[in-house]
Amino acid sequence: MNLLWKDLLKKTRKTECTSNQDELTKLSDIAFFKKQIKIFCEEAKEKGKSFALMMLDIDGFKYINDALGYHIGDRLLVEIAQRLITFLDDTKYTCRYSADQFAILVPWLSTMEEYERVSKNIVSLFSVPFKIDGHELYVTTSMGVSIYPEDGQELDFLKKHADRALLQAKAKGKNRYQFYYSNMNIQNYKQFQLRNDLRKAIKEDQLKVFYQPVVNLKTDEVLAAEALIRWEHPTWGMVPPAEFIFLAEDSGFIIDIGNWTLRKVCETYQKWVNDGLAPIKMSINYSSIQIQEKNLVANIKDVLKEFQLNPHFLVIEITESFLMDNTDDIIANIQSLQAFGIQVALDDFGTGYSSLQYLNSFNLDIIKLDKTFIKNALSDNTCDIITKTVINLARELGIKIVVEGIETLEQVAYLQKLDCHIGQGFLYSKPVPLHEFEKLITDKSVTPFQLVMA
Ligand code: C2E
Ligand code: MG
Ligand code: MG
Repeated sequence: MNLLWKDLLKKTRKTECTSNQDELTKLSDIAFFKKQIKIFCEEAKEKGKSFALMMLDIDGFKYINDALGYHIGDRLLVEIAQRLITFLDDTKYTCRYSADQFAILVPWLSTMEEYERVSKNIVSLFSVPFKIDGHELYVTTSMGVSIYPEDGQELDFLKKHADRALLQAKAKGKNRYQFYYSNMNIQNYKQFQLRNDLRKAIKEDQLKVFYQPVVNLKTDEVLAAEALIRWEHPTWGMVPPAEFIFLAEDSGFIIDIGNWTLRKVCETYQKWVNDGLAPIKMSINYSSIQIQEKNLVANIKDVLKEFQLNPHFLVIEITESFLMDNTDDIIANIQSLQAFGIQVALDDFGTGYSSLQYLNSFNLDIIKLDKTFIKNALSDNTCDIITKTVINLARELGIKIVVEGIETLEQVAYLQKLDCHIGQGFLYSKPVPLHEFEKLITDKSVTPFQLVMA
């Protein structure tokens, strides 16, 4: 019964083109996929077996096209298709579902563990960079998985549920797979609404900037503010960035949000300068997509000029990107920012996969040690060693280190013993609205005891 697609697969391997094939990748097209899944459903029903539908989406593909051009984007899709075909044996089936989405059918496994193993292996296929025209593209993928018959007994349901699981995989930070589960509906309904409403958020004044103090651990003096965005949604209430930044990145709307945040922060800082408040630094988070923007530096310069601000107050926090090609552009942007007087911090240090390489490539001013380290440093020997090593490494390299996620006085004492004196965390203050933060800097320092008792 499976002859139909096996024949096509053979042709695909020979890169012949048939009417059922996608011209670019030579994989089969959606029409063929629909026929195929019908056959799988019939066969599974007849034999009482299961199969998985995996919807695979390339993370941030739009930005590869935007940054490197469609030519490279197309070549990447061909390479991805080849990698999938090489991995998937004759029992499995794949098609190009849409621009950067592939559908995969994995039949007749007997346990969830086996489906999990295949899913994990598919996501891992992307851990090796794609080499295209001298570019080394580090690309990740997210995948949603639904299983026949539990998650649906025909294409419509299986596809709908795999798509929901895919959205969830993206929401959890991309570069992962997610199996569908039944109470996902409410979460996805929320995401669907958020995605739709995002464009209105700025216009309707629903975005807010909260500020969290970065503190001198010896003196409790506030050294800086980190601007952290929130969305006051009319239906869902206060939505944290973890729930909408990835949606904004996917839709490209993050650029508008970033510009809005920068302007908001500059407006606030200008007011502080005029009010004679403490001349602290101000950090803004930038997504990797923003850092690759061609006009990044010119835009920031324009905004600072408009608000008549000296660039030295600003720190830009970047996280490791899902795409670390195009490093020349990123390095050039970082250098221009620094030449202009803006400091650059690497955020969430230690959570990505090749952080040490970044220390070498980018001349960073600040490292922000991810909160997981201090959380576990006092109880876990490995975390303790890593924390100490990173603090020493930063010191040797002449890079400032800020420890994130400080929640207890024991953690402060631990850091002070290591001669590490800058940090932020709930012990000092959660991110708070502007007026509350202004109270903190009017007092010039935060007192951990009082804040804990409050
Ligand atoms: P981040 O830049 O690493 O920000 C620190 C996050 O840790 C904040 O979460 C903060 O509330 C939380 N945090 C601070 N101290 C503690 C602590 O002691 N314990 C614990 N458990 N958490 C602590 P938040 O505000 O939810 O932001 C999450 C992430 O969203 C940020 O991580 C940042 O990557 C991103 N983000 C926030 N605002 C923006 C923005 O304007 N643009 C972009 N591109 N990303 C943003
Ligand atoms: Mg940050
Ligand atoms: Mg962080």
